[in-house]
Amino acid sequence: MASKSNGRQGTELSAPSFQKLASGVPGVLFTFWQSADGKRHRYPFVSEQVRTLFGADPAQLNENADAVFLIIHPDDAAGVESSILESAQTLTPWCYRARLKTIDKGYQWFEAHSVPERQADGSTLWYGQFHNIQHYKDLEQTLRDSEAEFQFQAGFQKLIARLSTEFINLGFGTIDECIDELLTSISHFFRVDRAYLYHFSEDYCRMTNTHEWCAPGVESLIESQQDVPIDQFQWWHRQIQNMVDLNQVVFIEDVDGLPAGAAPERAMLQDQGVSSMFCVPIRIRGRVTGFFGVDSLSKRIWRTDQADLLIIVSGLLSGALERSRLEQELLRQSIRDPLTGLHNRRYLMPRLDELLARSNRVGERFALAMFDIDYFKQINDNLGHLAGDYILQRFSELLMRHTRTTDVVSRFGGEEFLVVFAAVESNEVRALVDRVLEVVRKETFIYDGHSIPVTVSAGVAGVEELTGKPVTPHVLIDYADRRLYQAKQGGRDCLVDASGLSRI
Ligand code: GH3
Ligand code: MG
Ligand code: MG
Repeated sequence: MASKSNGRQGTELSAPSFQKLASGVPGVLFTFWQSADGKRHRYPFVSEQVRTLFGADPAQLNENADAVFLIIHPDDAAGVESSILESAQTLTPWCYRARLKTIDKGYQWFEAHSVPERQADGSTLWYGQFHNIQHYKDLEQTLRDSEAEFQFQAGFQKLIARLSTEFINLGFGTIDECIDELLTSISHFFRVDRAYLYHFSEDYCRMTNTHEWCAPGVESLIESQQDVPIDQFQWWHRQIQNMVDLNQVVFIEDVDGLPAGAAPERAMLQDQGVSSMFCVPIRIRGRVTGFFGVDSLSKRIWRTDQADLLIIVSGLLSGALERSRLEQELLRQSIRDPLTGLHNRRYLMPRLDELLARSNRVGERFALAMFDIDYFKQINDNLGHLAGDYILQRFSELLMRHTRTTDVVSRFGGEEFLVVFAAVESNEVRALVDRVLEVVRKETFIYDGHSIPVTVSAGVAGVEELTGKPVTPHVLIDYADRRLYQAKQGGRDCLVDASGLSRI
């Protein structure tokens, strides 16, 4: 008997017992009723928790469900209503996730599960529960963020790997193209509107924009940013000092929020449409030579990880620029004479080949003159080798000053110089060479308190003299060399060309 009576008590719960049971369940138990025309709704039963969770009165909800519908997040409201409608029409379970405004924690995500049942009058009654799932939503978001972060990092690694391979395989003279490509790729990756490279003058008082990338429709600044004085920008000047001394980056998240001391900078950046920017110093052989930067036309928060990545990009640029500068230096050294800075034979001979080929093709004339300092050995013998070196340097300067940039001026041997006069006729070249001889004769050379009289002799040959002969640079040089010998024989301080000796 006892067991039978206990069993019956277990299946048929009184309303107070059910309330107690419901209060022990996490979440809210409910029955939800909606009229056949969908115009009226109420919660015939709803757990007491609605009071503590949402500040709603269960007794009121028993009569009208509006109070709950009013706390649904505006973005979720339409979805809740249409899903209830669908569940009512199809009599399939109503399961839905939406944000509800709680008393103490603002909007929180809730998940509802309920089963509909059609009533005799055509209305619908759902039996179910809903509970807080904010914790899962937060977890989901964290996972999504870390997945996005992972994708971002992986994408960056790939980009840097590609760019550094390009920089490693950089050929002579291709650095500019590589930098332009880097600026383009980095700008796309970081979704910025402008990316650039600036070079500082030696004294850090001026700066020049050397490379730039702009998003479509974004104004290019490179032309106006050449050799710009920095002194009127005190704030920026201090930032540069921090770049140089402390290797610091400069970032502005909101140009409008720049300090009062940065008024000129703010005005200029606003004028350029820039809202935020990030600049990283470029260091070559330990010295800051410029900076790499990106601009955004909208306000932008620079996350620490993004900042770190931009610093890596700047490191890549620094390395590439350093290598390129080293290569240029080596190239320069390999084609220049270290004492005088003039070109050497390694540079001269291929240029002569080119000029000859051009002359054959389009008949363009050119001439060359071989200069040799008179009695040079005596200078060495009387005043020492350094005095000789000094004369060589001074003579080289005179040659440079009295020739055109299109002419090739080279040190051919010890104190022999070969000058290629481009695009001239023989009579013109005679005047040019005579002028050099005259200038040297009149110049005062003083070394260690000694005045040294210097003269030079020259042999001249023009390309037009080579008709009918196999044309090589050597034939032409040989002509000039033999005439130089004649000039020496003729008493020095004079020139010999096809028409003979000339002395003024
Ligand atoms: P000439 O008028 O016939 O040309 O007489 P010269 O004394 O100039 O003739 P020579 O060609 O015999 O002398 C060239 C000297 O130049 C010999 C060499 O020691 C010297 N010389 C060659 N290269 C250098 C150099 O780099 N520095 C110095 N100081 N002397 C050099
Ligand atoms: Mg000589
Ligand atoms: Mg000589």
